[in-house]
Amino acid sequence: NKRPNDLSAFWMPFTANRQFKETPRMLVAAKDMHFTAEDGRKIMDGTAGLWCVNAGHCRPKITKAIQQQAAQLDYAPAFQMGHPIAFEFANRLAAIAPEGMDHVFFTNSGSESVDTALKIALAYHRAKGDGSRFRLIGRERGYHGVNFGGISVGGIVANRKMFGTLLTGVDHMPHTHLPGKNAFTRGEPEHGGDLADELERIVTLHDASTVAAVIVEPVAGSTGVLIPPKGYLKRLREICDKHGILLIFDEVITGFGRLGTPFAADYFGVVPDIMTTAKGVTNGVIPMGAVFVKKEIHDAFMNGPEHLIEFFHGYTYSGNPIACAAGLATLDTYQEEGLLTRASELADHWADALHSLKGEPHVIDIRNIGLVGAVELESIPGEPTKRAFSAFLKAYERGFLIRTTGDIIALSPPLIISRGQIDELIDNLRDVLRMID
Ligand code: PMP
Repeated sequence: NKRPNDLSAFWMPFTANRQFKETPRMLVAAKDMHFTAEDGRKIMDGTAGLWCVNAGHCRPKITKAIQQQAAQLDYAPAFQMGHPIAFEFANRLAAIAPEGMDHVFFTNSGSESVDTALKIALAYHRAKGDGSRFRLIGRERGYHGVNFGGISVGGIVANRKMFGTLLTGVDHMPHTHLPGKNAFTRGEPEHGGDLADELERIVTLHDASTVAAVIVEPVAGSTGVLIPPKGYLKRLREICDKHGILLIFDEVITGFGRLGTPFAADYFGVVPDIMTTAKGVTNGVIPMGAVFVKKEIHDAFMNGPEHLIEFFHGYTYSGNPIACAAGLATLDTYQEEGLLTRASELADHWADALHSLKGEPHVIDIRNIGLVGAVELESIPGEPTKRAFSAFLKAYERGFLIRTTGDIIALSPPLIISRGQIDELIDNLRDVLRMID
């Protein structure tokens, strides 16, 4: 774990990170709520890594399960062959899934889960004999990973503008976030529920019978913790049902307890047809994703006419034994420690702490749901990321990891955080806000 002399070969993901390359902040160890930096300092993880380490770091049960599985059956293909642990893990996941989502397709990441979900949706309509549904609808400011499907339906223009037309037949609904209107709201905002009617407008514009699926993050994470207004997701469900369109929830961030329920579908009381997950499925420890699918969709592939169903899809590492072992131990840990619902117990404390930042320098909005929060700062004119980035640097100096997107500070600590640690995190952020220009 020593810093190599030559840092040139590793291409850091995302070119925006060029600025980090000169002086990367190296992390060399981790335990529970904290990283250890190369200089030995403890850094509190205010973001659960990249929204993934829900049970905290280096949990012994998960580590041990990985070691044992690696020693017993390190690799086996999960197609044409089987190995028990993949079947067992799929059963365990289906048991905690929203009603009727009985089947699980394993991938290796969130981006792969999104592509898998889009392909299942398109192929499902064909499997049912309906070849006219080819359109996909996403949302502005939606983030669905970086593979071609994900950037096509994703709503961040900067992520797709270099790549031409990408998937065709894609449209985007306006996002639910109404700048200024919901400032300092706690929980689901009242305003903007009628924005779901934008979907009705868009599907009608294109002829609803050509639309295959709509994909949304129940709460947009990476673009700044944007919480839908009351009733929004229910209304999307109604519109999709009315027109025979599949509804996909991208729960890569919201899955596995982040909102205080196993999935956001449970929180909002809306069951999608397909649900993508990754990150928390293995506590972020081993790359894995899982796509949950309703029985009816799965059965259309298994029981439909063979000439219509040629679903050539799967990965070398789908259902990888070591990843499944990590996932099972993760699920045990979540269930033994009540972590899938712990965020609901902490939500009020979290909201009070976050909202105590109202009135601090630069703060123009605060948003929270479950154990996720965002503190939006007023940008310096012409420099839309500078202020939050200074906050990131100052926080790191003080021993806290926060995440920034534009001038929004996002927080999503491991679900094991104590009330005292929440106060510590927010008090430090308060000090940081008072220190930056
Ligand atoms: N979907 C959502 C909602 C995400 O937040 C992310 C990652 N932040 C992804 C997909 C992509 O996941 P991955 O980085 O594992 O490919």
